[in-house]
Amino acid sequence: MGLFSKKPPCPICGGKIPLILPSKIEGEYICNNCYNKIDMDADKESNLTMQGFREYLAFYDQNQILKGQFVVSERIDFGLWDTKIIFDYQNKLFCMSKNPDKTVFEGRQLKSFTIREDSTPLFEGSAAGIRRYTSTVTERAMAMAPQIAQIAASKRMARTLDRLDDGKVNNSTPVQYFDIPEPFQAFHVELHFDHSYWTVLKCDMDGPRFNNTLPDVNNYLRSYQQSIEEIEKLVAALRMVAFPDAAEQSIGPGMVGMGVLQTNMAPPADAIEEIKKYKALMEDGVISQQEFEAKKKQLLGI
Ligand SMILES: [Zn+2]
Repeated sequence: MGLFSKKPPCPICGGKIPLILPSKIEGEYICNNCYNKIDMDADKESNLTMQGFREYLAFYDQNQILKGQFVVSERIDFGLWDTKIIFDYQNKLFCMSKNPDKTVFEGRQLKSFTIREDSTPLFEGSAAGIRRYTSTVTERAMAMAPQIAQIAASKRMARTLDRLDDGKVNNSTPVQYFDIPEPFQAFHVELHFDHSYWTVLKCDMDGPRFNNTLPDVNNYLRSYQQSIEEIEKLVAALRMVAFPDAAEQSIGPGMVGMGVLQTNMAPPADAIEEIKKYKALMEDGVISQQEFEAKKKQLLGI
């Protein structure tokens, strides 16, 4: 008791310094209540001086007013990605949390944003405009279809042979693991600020994954489409609070919508090749004629 009680009170508020792992600024202990108010770029936090912290607290008090005004008009919840952003369209505010309990940003403090699929740009936004780049993810996933169908077919075949063997399922057939990498791994969102305490906020969101026991391109494309819808919602919300006058511009070959197949053009040469592969699968009895016809229509976009 004697040792600990000698710690001076918090130099900011006079509050009690915690006994265990107290936080320090410039070598001075501060209380948890003060420390918990810190919400800024990690490098700004690590260089924080006591004078800087006092200035930050003035900003924090101002920000409390914005928290009080905040009316949630849009909540973007990336579900499994565990990223939540709330927007207030009326007051043009947003906050990277499910409630306005962290720093509330004013739309005008956002300088620009980028959203990438791995390293490939998908969206770029600033007051100069919102650019939307054509994604090749759908195309690349479709190109994997024959390979994936073959894996599924050989799995089915292995199961059938297994049963024919002695009428019981056994594990004599080696299991084929699906280890083909997805067309991309993650969406990378970056928000760049013109702000005293924030330069950039980054969050990564996993892209869809193939089911590794029963991969299916259509399931993959369905979850990709859902992700794209969330991303579009995010872009529209950022635009609403930060760049309401920005024009939208599509960049990339053709005018192919995100995740939507072309329907008014000649089928590409590789679609024909893929149809041939499916035809061979049908002739081998791996897929039914019905499955083949459905795939053919899908590949031809008819
Ligand atoms: Zn304090």
